[in-house]
Amino acid sequence: MTEVTRTWSCMCGAFEAKVIGDPALACWCHCQSCRKQTGAAMQLGVWSDVEIVKGGDDLIGFEKTPGSGVIRNSCAKCGSFCYKILPSGKVAPLGALEGGPTVKPTCHIFVADKGDQDVMFPELPQHDAFP
Ligand SMILES: [Zn+2]
Ligand SMILES: [Zn+2]
Repeated sequence: MTEVTRTWSCMCGAFEAKVIGDPALACWCHCQSCRKQTGAAMQLGVWSDVEIVKGGDDLIGFEKTPGSGVIRNSCAKCGSFCYKILPSGKVAPLGALEGGPTVKPTCHIFVADKGDQDVMFPELPQHDAFP
């Protein structure tokens, strides 16, 4: 069986990346950082690796908690969220993916941190951290 490839790019097109196969985890993240970064709860997918196609040198990396190993990479030109590095893998923004079957989030994470305006899907399990 051939593994599916999904691609995405930032708004201006300077950054492009791809992931192969299905994510280890797909979820809605309600943490304050994702909400501040995106203006909404973030649909994220965790893969073991994200393959940068172009623009990897033109990203701005931001580590909110120094030493955490959690680094959010955004395009220096258009500001789009491009991908995030976790100690356990790399995170792609599900809302920006193109190609392949839809990746549907299967749970909510960082629910204790959710904003007053967040929409919850009550049929999905809720966690206060990564499950
Ligand atoms: Zn861009
Ligand atoms: Zn988050």
